[in-house]
Amino acid sequence: MAFEINTKNNIRDRFKCAPRPEIWKDTEPKDWNNWVWQQQKRIKSMEVLEKVIAVTDEERGAFAQSHDMFNMGITPYYASLIDPNDPNCPIRLQSVPKAGELNILPTELEDPLGEEADMPVPGITHRYPDRVLFYTTHNCPVYCRHCTRKRKVSDPSSSAANKQLEESLAYIEAHKEIRDVVISGGDPLSNSDDRLEYILSRLRAMEHIQIFRLGTRNLVTLPQRITESFANMLKKYHPVFIHTHFNHPKECSQEAFDACARLADAGCVINNQMVLLKGVNDDPKTVLELNHKLLMMRVRPYYIFQCDQAQGISHFRTPIETGLKIIESLRGWTSGMAVPHFVIDGPGGGGKIPLLPKYLLKREGNKWTFRNYKNKEYVYIDTSEPGSVETIASEKK
Ligand SMILES: *Cc1c(COP(=O)(O)O)cnc(C)c1O
Ligand code: SF4
Repeated sequence: MAFEINTKNNIRDRFKCAPRPEIWKDTEPKDWNNWVWQQQKRIKSMEVLEKVIAVTDEERGAFAQSHDMFNMGITPYYASLIDPNDPNCPIRLQSVPKAGELNILPTELEDPLGEEADMPVPGITHRYPDRVLFYTTHNCPVYCRHCTRKRKVSDPSSSAANKQLEESLAYIEAHKEIRDVVISGGDPLSNSDDRLEYILSRLRAMEHIQIFRLGTRNLVTLPQRITESFANMLKKYHPVFIHTHFNHPKECSQEAFDACARLADAGCVINNQMVLLKGVNDDPKTVLELNHKLLMMRVRPYYIFQCDQAQGISHFRTPIETGLKIIESLRGWTSGMAVPHFVIDGPGGGGKIPLLPKYLLKREGNKWTFRNYKNKEYVYIDTSEPGSVETIASEKK
């Protein structure tokens, strides 16, 4: 039977292009849509930032004082998502320095996740039995003010030179227990396509490697980087997982939609790792809207991170209860696919620890009492024989 395909209700049309600030009004689309141009025109100074947004005195002061610790860098595309007149714009909070950064609490740590301690070679953090973090560059298109790796990111002396890259690959090659490699940075998409392809092809040639992930924020900060030829290159190395970092619905532009579409069409599975940030996304409504948009972009919400104890991000930190409330507000009230895991990274290297609202109310013998998302109680009688379960941990001892 013939039918007419309905293109009137195209999901893509629900996503809006980023507005174009005055200073880039005359930029040719071939430049604006070119990631090299976006990368070259990154905003690194107050003079240029002043032309895009109404900078506050606080921001000016914070920029001057934070500059030596952690650069500012904002792509024109990401800057165009900023509300020029709202100092509390969630895009702005993530990209323009604030006075809070200068305040370092005694509880804050330079290496909050103990990534250096678990480093067998300079480019690898091997914490979990079967997977590693693999650092391939110190660069990112936008320097996120809440970054947990400030000590490394934007510092050229920590760059992964070719020698370090080879040592990391040799380590992965030698350790047959590794099956999953998280390619990270900085942002691994700051590498050239050729360098990335070299890394992927080396990893794919190792028989013990099953999957790898590219941990990248380019979908959010520089979606132009996801070119057709880059996506096509990835096709050769499947399964490829993309782990990205959307924090706010405003970041879900049509440009970002298209970047996700190119990756999803190329067969990549895309997951999102949101960081819970005060004033950006610390309320259930914002997270709900973000996660609904992500699903329409074929991105699966994977983690919500409690802000860790990195230095100079106390103005972003939220109470742990906030994360629990957000999960509780999602579970049952929307698609299970829109409910990520809320995790806290154990300070000093404990790894990710899941935090869940309490749904188990009590257990009396084989009678378990739970509550559901509407707070109604349900009793489950467990009639199965108690048995022992062999855990993976006991096997790995
Ligand atoms: C987050 C992380 C991973 C990956 O963890 P998953 O829970 O598998 O996503 C691996 N290694 C380190 C050091 C990490 O911090
Ligand atoms: S993209 Fe990631 S590594 Fe780079 S500055 Fe942002 S949070 Fe840090």
